[in-house]
Amino acid sequence: MELESKEDYKCKHCNKLLFKGFLVRDGHIEIKCKHCKFINTFNINNKNNEATPKSN
Ligand SMILES: [Zn+2]
Repeated sequence: MELESKEDYKCKHCNKLLFKGFLVRDGHIEIKCKHCKFINTFNINNKNNEATPKSN
């Protein structure tokens, strides 16, 4: 059981892993995928610490 929760950030277009990490600041980031050049936007919202179930 890990104490630190790291998120996987994957490209929404080709599903390649962009990075793993733990973002502490609120806001949003944009990451351009190296593989398909799709620009992924992730909204960081650490104020609401709600558990988002990963449904796959
Ligand atoms: Zn991609």
